[in-house]
Amino acid sequence: METKPHPHLHIFFLPFMAQGHTLPMIDIAKLFASRGVKCTIVTTPANAPIISKAIQTSKGFGFEIEVVVIKFPSAEVGLPEGSESTKLEKTDEMREKFLKAITLFEQQVEKILDQHHPHCLVADFLFHWATNVAAKFGIPRFVFHGAGFFALCSLKSVMLYQPHMKVSSDSESFVIPSLPDEIIMTRNQLAPFLTRNGKTELIKLIKASREAEERSYGIIVNSYYELEPDYADHYRKVLGKKSWHIGPVSLCNKVEKDKSERGREGSVDEVHECLNWLNSKKPNSVVYICFGSMTKFSDCQLIEIAFGLEASQQQFIWVVNKENNDKEEWLPEGFKQRNEGKGLVIRGWAPQLLILQNEAVGVFVTHCGWNSILEGVSSGVPMITWPVSADQFFNEKLVTQILGIGIAIGAQKWEDDSVQREANVKREAIEKAVTEFMVGNEQEEMRSKVLALGQMARRAVAEGGSSHSDLTALIGELWFLVS
Ligand code: UDP
Repeated sequence: METKPHPHLHIFFLPFMAQGHTLPMIDIAKLFASRGVKCTIVTTPANAPIISKAIQTSKGFGFEIEVVVIKFPSAEVGLPEGSESTKLEKTDEMREKFLKAITLFEQQVEKILDQHHPHCLVADFLFHWATNVAAKFGIPRFVFHGAGFFALCSLKSVMLYQPHMKVSSDSESFVIPSLPDEIIMTRNQLAPFLTRNGKTELIKLIKASREAEERSYGIIVNSYYELEPDYADHYRKVLGKKSWHIGPVSLCNKVEKDKSERGREGSVDEVHECLNWLNSKKPNSVVYICFGSMTKFSDCQLIEIAFGLEASQQQFIWVVNKENNDKEEWLPEGFKQRNEGKGLVIRGWAPQLLILQNEAVGVFVTHCGWNSILEGVSSGVPMITWPVSADQFFNEKLVTQILGIGIAIGAQKWEDDSVQREANVKREAIEKAVTEFMVGNEQEEMRSKVLALGQMARRAVAEGGSSHSDLTALIGELWFLVS
Protein backbone atom coordinates (compact mmCIF):
# COMPACT_ATOMS: atom_id res chain seq x y z
CA MET A 1 0.00 0.00 0.00
CA GLU A 2 1.43 3.40 -0.98
CA THR A 3 1.54 5.95 1.84
CA LYS A 4 -0.15 9.27 1.29
CA PRO A 5 2.12 12.30 1.64
CA HIS A 6 2.31 13.43 5.25
CA PRO A 7 2.75 17.18 5.23
CA HIS A 8 2.87 17.27 9.01
CA LEU A 9 5.45 14.57 9.56
CA HIS A 10 8.79 16.20 10.32
CA ILE A 11 12.05 14.26 10.85
CA PHE A 12 15.38 15.52 12.13
CA PHE A 13 18.52 13.80 10.81
CA LEU A 14 21.86 13.91 12.62
CA PRO A 15 24.66 12.51 10.44
CA PHE A 16 28.08 11.70 11.89
CA MET A 17 30.82 13.79 10.28
CA ALA A 18 32.47 11.16 8.09
CA GLN A 19 31.56 10.74 4.41
CA GLY A 20 30.71 7.04 4.83
CA HIS A 21 28.05 8.05 7.37
CA THR A 22 26.98 11.45 6.04
CA LEU A 23 26.40 10.47 2.39
CA PRO A 24 23.93 7.65 3.08
CA MET A 25 22.16 9.75 5.75
CA ILE A 26 21.64 12.55 3.19
CA ASP A 27 20.23 9.96 0.78
CA ILE A 28 17.91 8.68 3.51
CA ALA A 29 16.65 12.21 4.15
CA LYS A 30 16.11 12.65 0.40
CA LEU A 31 14.12 9.42 0.30
CA PHE A 32 11.85 10.51 3.13
CA ALA A 33 11.47 13.95 1.54
CA SER A 34 10.46 12.33 -1.75
CA ARG A 35 7.57 10.71 0.15
CA GLY A 36 6.26 14.04 1.35
CA VAL A 37 7.97 14.07 4.77
CA LYS A 38 9.54 17.32 5.95
CA CYS A 39 13.24 16.68 6.60
CA THR A 40 15.83 18.73 8.47
CA ILE A 41 19.49 17.72 8.42
CA VAL A 42 21.48 19.04 11.37
CA THR A 43 25.17 19.65 10.83
CA THR A 44 28.10 21.95 11.59
CA PRO A 45 29.42 24.92 9.53
CA ALA A 46 32.25 23.12 7.70
CA ASN A 47 29.98 20.21 6.73
CA ALA A 48 27.00 22.30 5.69
CA PRO A 49 28.08 23.25 2.11
CA ILE A 50 28.35 19.64 0.88
CA ILE A 51 24.99 18.75 2.39
CA SER A 52 23.31 21.88 1.04
CA LYS A 53 24.63 21.08 -2.43
CA ALA A 54 23.45 17.48 -2.18
CA ILE A 55 19.85 18.45 -1.46
CA GLN A 56 19.49 21.04 -4.25
CA THR A 57 17.85 18.64 -6.70
CA SER A 58 15.34 17.49 -4.08
CA LYS A 59 14.52 21.11 -3.24
CA GLY A 60 14.12 21.79 -6.96
CA PHE A 61 11.48 19.04 -7.08
CA GLY A 62 9.64 20.96 -4.36
CA PHE A 63 10.45 18.51 -1.55
CA GLU A 64 10.70 19.94 1.96
CA ILE A 65 14.30 19.41 2.97
CA GLU A 66 16.66 21.82 4.67
CA VAL A 67 19.90 22.12 6.61
CA VAL A 68 20.19 23.57 10.11
CA VAL A 69 23.65 24.49 11.32
CA ILE A 70 24.91 24.11 14.87
CA LYS A 71 28.31 25.09 16.23
CA PHE A 72 31.14 22.55 16.33
CA PRO A 73 32.72 22.80 19.79
CA SER A 74 36.32 23.08 18.51
CA ALA A 75 37.56 25.45 21.19
CA GLU A 76 35.96 23.46 24.00
CA VAL A 77 38.01 20.36 23.12
CA GLY A 78 41.12 22.11 21.81
CA LEU A 79 40.76 21.38 18.08
CA PRO A 80 41.66 23.94 15.41
CA GLU A 81 38.75 25.91 13.92
CA GLY A 82 37.15 24.09 10.96
CA SER A 83 38.40 20.66 11.99
CA GLU A 84 34.93 19.18 11.84
CA SER A 85 35.30 15.88 10.08
CA THR A 86 37.05 12.60 10.88
CA LYS A 87 39.17 12.91 7.74
CA LEU A 88 40.92 15.98 9.24
CA GLU A 89 41.91 14.23 12.45
CA LYS A 90 45.46 13.28 11.69
CA THR A 91 46.76 12.11 15.07
CA ASP A 92 45.39 9.88 17.83
CA GLU A 93 45.15 12.93 20.04
CA MET A 94 43.04 14.82 17.48
CA ARG A 95 40.83 11.80 17.00
CA GLU A 96 40.21 11.59 20.74
CA LYS A 97 39.34 15.29 20.83
CA PHE A 98 37.03 14.92 17.85
CA LEU A 99 35.16 12.08 19.53
CA LYS A 100 34.92 14.13 22.70
CA ALA A 101 33.48 17.03 20.67
CA ILE A 102 30.63 14.98 19.25
CA THR A 103 29.41 14.20 22.75
CA LEU A 104 28.98 17.94 23.32
CA PHE A 105 26.22 18.61 20.78
CA GLU A 106 23.47 17.55 23.13
CA GLN A 107 22.41 20.96 24.44
CA GLN A 108 22.44 22.61 21.04
CA VAL A 109 20.33 19.83 19.56
CA GLU A 110 17.95 20.08 22.48
CA LYS A 111 17.54 23.78 21.79
CA ILE A 112 16.72 23.35 18.12
CA LEU A 113 14.34 20.47 18.86
CA ASP A 114 12.56 22.87 21.16
CA GLN A 115 12.33 25.43 18.35
CA HIS A 116 11.29 23.07 15.54
CA HIS A 117 9.25 20.35 17.32
CA PRO A 118 10.01 17.47 14.90
CA HIS A 119 8.20 14.15 15.33
CA CYS A 120 11.22 11.93 15.19
CA LEU A 121 15.02 11.91 15.40
CA VAL A 122 17.21 9.77 13.13
CA ALA A 123 20.71 9.96 14.59
CA ASP A 124 23.96 8.22 13.84
CA PHE A 125 24.83 5.34 16.15
CA LEU A 126 27.70 7.33 17.69
CA PHE A 127 25.42 10.11 18.96
CA HIS A 128 24.39 8.12 22.01
CA TRP A 129 22.93 11.18 23.77
CA ALA A 130 20.29 11.43 21.02
CA THR A 131 18.16 8.74 22.68
CA ASN A 132 17.86 10.80 25.87
CA VAL A 133 17.26 14.04 24.01
CA ALA A 134 14.48 12.43 21.96
CA ALA A 135 12.96 10.99 25.13
CA LYS A 136 12.85 14.47 26.71
CA PHE A 137 10.64 15.59 23.85
CA GLY A 138 8.62 12.38 23.84
CA ILE A 139 9.65 11.49 20.26
CA PRO A 140 11.20 8.25 18.94
CA ARG A 141 14.93 8.05 18.20
CA PHE A 142 16.06 5.84 15.32
CA VAL A 143 19.64 4.63 15.01
CA PHE A 144 21.60 4.65 11.77
CA HIS A 145 24.76 2.53 11.85
CA GLY A 146 25.86 2.69 8.26
CA ALA A 147 26.49 -1.09 8.33
CA GLY A 148 24.46 -3.90 6.77
CA PHE A 149 22.59 -6.75 8.53
CA PHE A 150 25.40 -9.26 8.14
CA ALA A 151 27.96 -7.04 9.90
CA LEU A 152 25.43 -5.98 12.55
CA CYS A 153 24.60 -9.62 13.33
CA SER A 154 28.26 -10.70 13.32
CA LEU A 155 29.35 -7.92 15.64
CA LYS A 156 26.45 -8.55 17.98
CA SER A 157 27.32 -12.26 18.19
CA VAL A 158 30.97 -11.52 18.85
CA MET A 159 30.03 -9.11 21.63
CA LEU A 160 27.51 -11.51 23.10
CA TYR A 161 29.51 -14.75 23.01
CA GLN A 162 33.08 -13.39 23.07
CA PRO A 163 34.53 -16.22 20.93
CA HIS A 164 37.72 -14.21 20.44
CA MET A 165 38.50 -14.53 24.14
CA LYS A 166 38.62 -18.31 23.85
CA VAL A 167 41.55 -18.50 21.40
CA SER A 168 45.17 -18.30 22.43
CA SER A 169 46.56 -15.95 19.79
CA ASP A 170 45.48 -13.08 17.54
CA SER A 171 45.88 -15.25 14.45
CA GLU A 172 44.05 -18.36 15.73
CA SER A 173 40.69 -18.69 14.05
CA PHE A 174 37.31 -19.03 15.72
CA VAL A 175 33.75 -19.46 14.50
CA ILE A 176 31.29 -16.66 15.26
CA PRO A 177 28.59 -18.48 17.23
CA SER A 178 24.92 -18.67 16.42
CA LEU A 179 24.93 -17.17 12.91
CA PRO A 180 23.06 -18.71 9.95
CA ASP A 181 26.42 -19.59 8.30
CA GLU A 182 29.79 -20.76 9.60
CA ILE A 183 31.82 -17.56 9.67
CA ILE A 184 35.46 -17.93 10.65
CA MET A 185 37.48 -14.93 11.85
CA THR A 186 40.58 -14.12 13.85
CA ARG A 187 41.19 -11.56 16.57
CA ASN A 188 43.41 -9.68 14.11
CA GLN A 189 40.31 -8.89 12.07
CA LEU A 190 38.29 -7.47 14.94
CA ALA A 191 38.00 -3.88 16.12
CA PRO A 192 40.53 -2.98 18.80
CA PHE A 193 37.72 -1.90 21.12
CA LEU A 194 36.64 -5.56 21.27
CA THR A 195 40.05 -6.93 22.04
CA ARG A 196 41.71 -4.27 24.17
CA ASN A 197 40.82 -2.93 27.54
CA GLY A 198 41.14 0.74 28.22
CA LYS A 199 39.23 3.95 28.43
CA THR A 200 39.80 5.72 25.13
CA GLU A 201 37.10 8.12 23.92
CA LEU A 202 36.17 5.55 21.27
CA ILE A 203 35.68 2.75 23.77
CA LYS A 204 33.59 5.02 26.01
CA LEU A 205 31.58 6.21 23.03
CA ILE A 206 30.86 2.74 21.69
CA LYS A 207 29.79 1.47 25.11
CA ALA A 208 27.44 4.41 25.59
CA SER A 209 26.13 4.09 22.02
CA ARG A 210 25.36 0.36 22.44
CA GLU A 211 23.44 1.08 25.60
CA ALA A 212 21.54 3.97 23.97
CA GLU A 213 20.73 1.78 20.97
CA GLU A 214 18.99 -0.74 23.22
CA ARG A 215 16.67 2.04 24.38
CA SER A 216 16.08 3.48 20.92
CA TYR A 217 12.89 2.90 18.92
CA GLY A 218 14.56 1.01 16.08
CA ILE A 219 17.24 0.83 13.44
CA ILE A 220 17.26 2.11 9.87
CA VAL A 221 19.44 -0.11 7.70
CA ASN A 222 20.95 0.76 4.33
CA SER A 223 20.44 -2.63 2.71
CA TYR A 224 17.82 -4.63 0.85
CA TYR A 225 16.21 -7.86 1.88
CA GLU A 226 17.23 -9.91 -1.15
CA LEU A 227 20.93 -9.23 -0.52
CA GLU A 228 21.12 -10.71 2.97
CA PRO A 229 17.73 -12.29 3.78
CA ASP A 230 19.01 -14.74 6.43
CA TYR A 231 20.72 -11.94 8.30
CA ALA A 232 17.81 -9.50 8.03
CA ASP A 233 15.64 -12.26 9.56
CA HIS A 234 18.28 -13.15 12.17
CA TYR A 235 18.63 -9.52 13.22
CA ARG A 236 14.91 -9.12 13.68
CA LYS A 237 13.82 -12.51 14.99
CA VAL A 238 16.81 -13.76 16.95
CA LEU A 239 18.41 -10.54 18.10
CA GLY A 240 15.00 -8.96 18.49
CA LYS A 241 15.67 -5.48 17.19
CA LYS A 242 13.06 -3.54 15.27
CA SER A 243 14.57 -2.52 11.95
CA TRP A 244 13.66 -1.24 8.51
CA HIS A 245 15.74 -1.83 5.39
CA ILE A 246 15.35 0.96 2.89
CA GLY A 247 18.42 0.67 0.61
CA PRO A 248 20.55 0.77 -1.36
CA VAL A 249 19.92 4.42 -0.61
CA SER A 250 22.51 5.71 -3.11
CA LEU A 251 20.11 4.60 -5.87
CA CYS A 252 17.98 7.65 -5.04
CA ASN A 253 20.60 9.72 -6.93
CA LYS A 254 19.16 9.62 -10.43
CA VAL A 255 20.31 12.98 -11.74
CA GLU A 256 23.83 13.01 -13.26
CA LYS A 257 24.81 16.15 -11.34
CA ASP A 258 24.00 14.51 -7.99
CA LYS A 259 26.19 11.56 -8.86
CA SER A 260 29.12 13.60 -10.08
CA GLU A 261 29.03 16.02 -7.14
CA ARG A 262 28.30 13.46 -4.43
CA GLY A 263 30.69 14.17 -1.56
CA ARG A 264 32.84 16.44 -3.75
CA GLU A 265 34.23 19.69 -2.42
CA GLY A 266 36.12 20.94 -5.48
CA SER A 267 35.30 21.44 -9.15
CA VAL A 268 33.78 18.77 -11.40
CA ASP A 269 36.39 19.21 -14.17
CA GLU A 270 38.29 16.11 -13.14
CA VAL A 271 35.01 14.16 -13.15
CA HIS A 272 34.61 14.79 -16.90
CA GLU A 273 38.24 13.92 -17.50
CA CYS A 274 37.84 10.63 -15.70
CA LEU A 275 34.58 9.73 -17.47
CA ASN A 276 35.98 10.61 -20.91
CA TRP A 277 38.92 8.35 -20.18
CA LEU A 278 36.61 5.50 -19.12
CA ASN A 279 34.36 6.00 -22.14
CA SER A 280 37.32 5.31 -24.41
CA LYS A 281 37.80 1.83 -22.90
CA LYS A 282 36.24 -1.52 -23.78
CA PRO A 283 33.59 -3.10 -21.50
CA ASN A 284 34.94 -4.83 -18.38
CA SER A 285 38.52 -3.85 -19.19
CA VAL A 286 39.36 -1.49 -16.29
CA VAL A 287 40.21 -2.25 -12.66
CA TYR A 288 38.78 0.37 -10.27
CA ILE A 289 40.66 0.60 -7.00
CA CYS A 290 39.44 2.79 -4.15
CA PHE A 291 39.55 2.53 -0.37
CA GLY A 292 36.72 4.85 0.61
CA SER A 293 36.93 8.18 2.35
CA MET A 294 39.00 7.36 5.42
CA THR A 295 41.73 4.82 4.65
CA LYS A 296 45.13 6.42 4.39
CA PHE A 297 47.78 3.88 3.51
CA SER A 298 51.42 4.34 4.37
CA ASP A 299 53.77 5.12 1.48
CA CYS A 300 55.23 1.60 1.59
CA GLN A 301 51.74 0.14 1.02
CA LEU A 302 51.07 2.56 -1.84
CA ILE A 303 54.32 1.53 -3.52
CA GLU A 304 53.25 -2.12 -3.33
CA ILE A 305 49.92 -1.23 -4.95
CA ALA A 306 51.68 0.66 -7.74
CA PHE A 307 54.04 -2.23 -8.51
CA GLY A 308 51.27 -4.81 -8.21
CA LEU A 309 48.98 -2.94 -10.59
CA GLU A 310 51.74 -2.37 -13.09
CA ALA A 311 52.79 -6.02 -13.01
CA SER A 312 49.20 -7.13 -13.67
CA GLN A 313 49.36 -5.25 -17.01
CA GLN A 314 45.72 -4.25 -16.65
CA GLN A 315 44.15 -0.85 -17.19
CA PHE A 316 43.16 0.84 -13.95
CA ILE A 317 41.71 3.82 -12.11
CA TRP A 318 43.41 4.09 -8.75
CA VAL A 319 42.09 6.55 -6.17
CA VAL A 320 44.76 7.66 -3.71
CA ASN A 321 43.65 9.41 -0.56
CA LYS A 322 46.55 11.88 -0.40
CA GLU A 323 46.63 15.64 -0.13
CA ASN A 324 47.57 17.26 -3.42
CA ASN A 325 50.56 18.98 -1.89
CA ASP A 326 52.13 15.67 -0.80
CA LYS A 327 55.21 14.77 -2.78
CA GLU A 328 54.66 11.68 -4.89
CA GLU A 329 57.38 9.61 -3.28
CA TRP A 330 54.90 6.77 -3.04
CA LEU A 331 54.92 6.38 -6.83
CA PRO A 332 57.76 4.32 -8.34
CA GLU A 333 60.01 6.33 -10.64
CA GLY A 334 58.60 6.64 -14.15
CA PHE A 335 55.26 5.05 -13.10
CA LYS A 336 53.14 7.81 -14.61
CA GLN A 337 54.99 7.84 -17.94
CA ARG A 338 54.97 4.04 -18.26
CA ASN A 339 51.23 3.92 -17.56
CA GLU A 340 50.19 6.89 -19.67
CA GLY A 341 46.78 6.07 -21.20
CA LYS A 342 46.69 2.77 -19.37
CA GLY A 343 46.18 3.90 -15.83
CA LEU A 344 44.59 6.91 -14.18
CA VAL A 345 45.63 7.96 -10.68
CA ILE A 346 43.01 10.14 -8.98
CA ARG A 347 44.29 12.04 -5.99
CA GLY A 348 41.46 12.94 -3.69
CA TRP A 349 37.82 12.33 -4.53
CA ALA A 350 36.55 10.08 -7.32
CA PRO A 351 33.00 10.15 -8.73
CA GLN A 352 32.50 6.61 -7.48
CA LEU A 353 28.85 6.14 -8.42
CA LEU A 354 29.55 7.16 -12.03
CA ILE A 355 32.73 5.11 -12.28
CA LEU A 356 31.06 1.95 -11.02
CA GLN A 357 28.13 2.44 -13.37
CA ASN A 358 30.43 2.75 -16.38
CA GLU A 359 30.52 -0.48 -18.39
CA ALA A 360 34.31 -0.23 -18.82
CA VAL A 361 34.81 -1.18 -15.17
CA GLY A 362 35.43 -4.92 -14.86
CA VAL A 363 36.31 -5.25 -11.19
CA PHE A 364 36.30 -3.13 -8.05
CA VAL A 365 39.23 -3.50 -5.66
CA THR A 366 37.51 -2.30 -2.48
CA HIS A 367 38.23 -1.83 1.21
CA CYS A 368 34.74 -3.25 1.79
CA GLY A 369 33.18 -0.13 3.30
CA TRP A 370 29.46 -0.90 3.34
CA ASN A 371 28.54 1.94 1.00
CA SER A 372 31.16 0.82 -1.50
CA ILE A 373 29.92 -2.77 -1.39
CA LEU A 374 26.33 -1.67 -1.96
CA GLU A 375 27.38 0.64 -4.78
CA GLY A 376 29.44 -2.13 -6.40
CA VAL A 377 26.55 -4.58 -6.11
CA SER A 378 23.99 -2.08 -7.40
CA SER A 379 26.18 -1.47 -10.44
CA GLY A 380 26.75 -5.18 -11.05
CA VAL A 381 30.54 -5.01 -10.53
CA PRO A 382 32.34 -7.98 -8.92
CA MET A 383 34.98 -7.25 -6.30
CA ILE A 384 38.44 -7.95 -5.04
CA THR A 385 38.16 -7.47 -1.31
CA TRP A 386 40.80 -5.72 0.78
CA PRO A 387 39.35 -4.92 4.19
CA VAL A 388 41.22 -2.50 6.42
CA SER A 389 39.14 -1.69 9.52
CA ALA A 390 35.63 -0.98 10.89
CA ASP A 391 32.99 -3.51 9.70
CA GLN A 392 35.04 -4.29 6.59
CA PHE A 393 36.35 -7.75 7.58
CA PHE A 394 32.77 -8.87 8.20
CA ASN A 395 31.66 -7.39 4.87
CA GLU A 396 34.41 -9.29 3.09
CA LYS A 397 32.92 -12.59 4.32
CA LEU A 398 29.53 -11.61 2.94
CA VAL A 399 30.98 -10.77 -0.47
CA THR A 400 33.35 -13.73 -0.87
CA GLN A 401 31.79 -16.54 1.16
CA ILE A 402 28.05 -15.93 1.16
CA LEU A 403 27.31 -14.01 -2.04
CA GLY A 404 30.21 -15.40 -4.08
CA ILE A 405 30.72 -12.15 -5.97
CA GLY A 406 34.34 -11.46 -5.13
CA ILE A 407 37.73 -12.84 -4.18
CA ALA A 408 39.87 -11.87 -1.19
CA ILE A 409 43.23 -10.26 -1.79
CA GLY A 410 44.45 -11.71 1.50
CA ALA A 411 44.43 -8.80 3.96
CA GLN A 412 44.56 -10.39 7.41
CA LYS A 413 44.88 -7.57 9.83
CA TRP A 414 42.92 -4.56 11.00
CA GLU A 415 44.84 -1.28 10.40
CA ASP A 416 43.64 1.65 12.43
CA ASP A 417 46.08 4.38 11.50
CA SER A 418 48.44 5.45 8.77
CA VAL A 419 51.67 5.13 10.73
CA GLN A 420 54.54 4.10 8.47
CA ARG A 421 54.87 0.35 8.74
CA GLU A 422 55.46 -2.67 6.64
CA ALA A 423 52.89 -3.12 3.88
CA ASN A 424 50.19 -5.60 4.89
CA VAL A 425 49.45 -6.70 1.34
CA LYS A 426 52.39 -7.31 -0.96
CA ARG A 427 52.69 -6.52 -4.67
CA GLU A 428 52.64 -10.23 -5.63
CA ALA A 429 49.24 -10.72 -3.97
CA ILE A 430 47.86 -7.64 -5.72
CA GLU A 431 49.18 -8.73 -9.10
CA LYS A 432 47.85 -12.27 -8.60
CA ALA A 433 44.32 -11.22 -7.58
CA VAL A 434 43.98 -8.62 -10.34
CA THR A 435 45.38 -10.90 -13.05
CA GLU A 436 43.31 -13.89 -11.97
CA PHE A 437 40.23 -11.75 -12.06
CA MET A 438 40.81 -10.00 -15.34
CA VAL A 439 42.11 -12.94 -17.37
CA GLY A 440 40.84 -16.00 -15.46
CA ASN A 441 37.55 -17.84 -15.96
CA GLU A 442 36.18 -17.58 -12.46
CA GLN A 443 34.96 -14.03 -12.87
CA GLU A 444 32.14 -14.77 -15.33
CA GLU A 445 30.08 -16.62 -12.76
CA MET A 446 30.71 -13.87 -10.21
CA ARG A 447 29.78 -11.23 -12.73
CA SER A 448 26.47 -12.88 -13.55
CA LYS A 449 25.67 -13.30 -9.85
CA VAL A 450 26.42 -9.67 -9.08
CA LEU A 451 24.49 -8.47 -12.12
CA ALA A 452 21.47 -10.38 -10.84
CA LEU A 453 21.91 -8.84 -7.38
CA GLY A 454 22.16 -5.40 -8.99
CA GLN A 455 18.83 -5.94 -10.72
CA MET A 456 17.31 -7.04 -7.42
CA ALA A 457 18.65 -3.87 -5.80
CA ARG A 458 16.93 -1.68 -8.36
CA ARG A 459 13.73 -3.67 -7.98
CA ALA A 460 13.94 -3.37 -4.18
CA VAL A 461 13.87 0.44 -4.29
CA ALA A 462 11.26 0.67 -7.05
CA GLU A 463 7.60 0.98 -6.17
CA GLY A 464 6.39 -2.27 -4.61
CA GLY A 465 9.96 -3.52 -3.98
CA SER A 466 11.10 -4.70 -0.54
CA SER A 467 12.96 -1.51 0.44
CA HIS A 468 10.29 0.76 -0.99
CA SER A 469 7.67 -1.14 0.99
CA ASP A 470 9.70 -1.05 4.20
CA LEU A 471 10.04 2.72 3.89
CA THR A 472 6.29 2.93 3.33
CA ALA A 473 5.75 0.82 6.45
CA LEU A 474 8.11 2.98 8.49
CA ILE A 475 6.41 6.21 7.44
CA GLY A 476 3.07 4.59 8.23
CA GLU A 477 4.28 3.60 11.70
CA LEU A 478 5.62 7.09 12.37
CA TRP A 479 2.40 8.60 11.26
CA PHE A 480 0.53 6.29 13.59
CA LEU A 481 2.85 7.29 16.46
CA VAL A 482 2.36 11.00 16.00
CA SER A 483 -1.35 11.08 15.31
N1 UDP B 1 33.47 7.94 -2.17
C1 UDP B 1 33.49 8.66 -3.34
N2 UDP B 1 34.70 8.98 -3.87
C2 UDP B 1 35.87 8.63 -3.29
C3 UDP B 1 35.84 7.89 -2.10
C4 UDP B 1 34.61 7.55 -1.56
O1 UDP B 1 32.44 9.00 -3.90
O2 UDP B 1 36.93 8.97 -3.84
C5 UDP B 1 32.16 7.61 -1.55
C6 UDP B 1 31.71 6.21 -1.89
O3 UDP B 1 30.95 6.22 -3.07
C7 UDP B 1 30.91 5.84 -0.66
C8 UDP B 1 31.54 6.63 0.46
O4 UDP B 1 32.27 7.68 -0.14
O5 UDP B 1 29.58 6.26 -0.81
C9 UDP B 1 32.50 5.81 1.30
O6 UDP B 1 31.80 4.98 2.14
P1 UDP B 1 32.28 3.51 2.49
O7 UDP B 1 31.28 2.95 3.44
O8 UDP B 1 32.48 2.73 1.26
O9 UDP B 1 33.69 3.69 3.15
P2 UDP B 1 34.26 4.65 4.32
O10 UDP B 1 34.67 5.90 3.68
O11 UDP B 1 33.17 4.83 5.32
O12 UDP B 1 35.42 3.86 4.84
